[in-house]
Amino acid sequence: MDEKDEVKKPGNENTEEAAGKMDEGKSETDTQEYEKICCVCHRPESQTGAMFSMPGDLYVCHDCLQKVFDSVMGKGVDLSKIDWSKVSFTPAMGMPFLNGNFPGMEVPKTQQLKKKKKNAEPEFAWKDVPAPHRIKAQLDDFVIGQEKAKKVVSVAVYNHYKRVCAEEMRQSKTADADDGVQIEKSNILMIGPTGSGKTFLVKTLARLLDVPLAIADATSLTESGYIGDDIESVVSKLLSVAGNDVEKAEHGIIFIDEIDKIAKKQQMTSRDVSGESVQQELLKLLEGSVVKVPVGSNQKNALTPTATVNTDNILFICGGAFPDLEEIIRRRLMEKSSMGFGAVLRDSFDSGQGVLSQVTNEDLRRFGMIPEFLGRLPVVVTLEKLTQDMMVRILREPKNAILRQYQKLLAMDEVRLLFDEDALEWIASEAMKRETGARALRAIMEEFMLDIMYEIPKDPNIGSVVITRAYLEKKGGPLIEMRTGG
Ligand code: ADP
Repeated sequence: MDEKDEVKKPGNENTEEAAGKMDEGKSETDTQEYEKICCVCHRPESQTGAMFSMPGDLYVCHDCLQKVFDSVMGKGVDLSKIDWSKVSFTPAMGMPFLNGNFPGMEVPKTQQLKKKKKNAEPEFAWKDVPAPHRIKAQLDDFVIGQEKAKKVVSVAVYNHYKRVCAEEMRQSKTADADDGVQIEKSNILMIGPTGSGKTFLVKTLARLLDVPLAIADATSLTESGYIGDDIESVVSKLLSVAGNDVEKAEHGIIFIDEIDKIAKKQQMTSRDVSGESVQQELLKLLEGSVVKVPVGSNQKNALTPTATVNTDNILFICGGAFPDLEEIIRRRLMEKSSMGFGAVLRDSFDSGQGVLSQVTNEDLRRFGMIPEFLGRLPVVVTLEKLTQDMMVRILREPKNAILRQYQKLLAMDEVRLLFDEDALEWIASEAMKRETGARALRAIMEEFMLDIMYEIPKDPNIGSVVITRAYLEKKGGPLIEMRTGG
């Protein structure tokens, strides 16, 4: 459809009403700026989205045309599924002005976003993907602790991209010989308390690898046909992050958070549209399938261009806090220990790793994840609950640590910002009380840094500020030093 605004010609019979309304008090040049108006509901195109145009300067919006179809042909007609070239409108269909022979009728085409032409150069060469130890070393710069998780993720990601390249070589026949060995997908299930760094780890990873990342929330996903985002919307999100470049999106990462919220409900009286059935629908995506997704919108209809995305090479990472999972693991270990495996239990309590690291598929199944779903997430990673020491390190050590960020802000006013060691410990202990992991750190910092950030730039003679524990406990002020010399 023509992108430019259509010119309404005054005096046209069919558009008299719409055009009449629009033409009031306007000169001819003004009318050139008019939008198309739906001849049924009279809404302008800016509200309705692109319109169907018909001979005689008539326009119908998508909603009205859909209503006509629904009333004539029954509910559930999806305009996007109609082959418009074969449609013949008859008076019996309630559209006497459309006679089936309308050369001027301009039907918006469902555009297909094309993949770039396959060239010899594969987009991804696994030699460009850093080796696991290098991925981990880079993660170390940002993510504190979680050593095991970083190691497992580094290996899984490395293998994933090896697999992607092997597949691409197989398809383009550049591999010497196809030995028939197919590497399976290594999608990841990430289990860890809130604020322990699951999302942060994935975000850091995507940035380091320079691949697009889409983050979706499992709680907003519902079985298709129900209110909420349908499953494929996650792919559509990735495509948009990849700038609608299908090939780039196909090498990306999709992180589905709060996956524990779609566990099978234990006692269900109604249909489980957001639990088990969502797991079922996700299976296809996780495994690899070709999906048609709308571009630039999360609604599929005749007017939205679509793209075909193959999820085969997309790395899926599902994350969740899985509350009560520890209890399930503990119970299983207890059962074992009563049969003489007490050492297992003792080990798990003694080791810093915690009970969560002992998780098995059986525990997850008891939690409510269906076996097929777990089968498609072969790599299970657990993250530890953050300790107070880790919190202090998170404040100070990462490349973009919160302290560094504040220091940088004040450095622009030529003021040095310092924190006493026991002040940092106080912040960490306060954060521990909030039970939201490292997320609480920023909230606490913001609370007391507000006054500092407000007051300090007032006085250009201030050279440095030391945040003390007494200041945080509201028993004193920060230590302020004036600039020496001129
Ligand atoms: P969740 O596990 O709930 O997904 P997030 O990854 O969103 O938690 O963590 C919230 C914030 O806390 C992150 O943006 C990050 O700044 C910080 N954070 C959490 N864990 C760590 C960690 N291990 N190392 C460094 N920063 C962390």
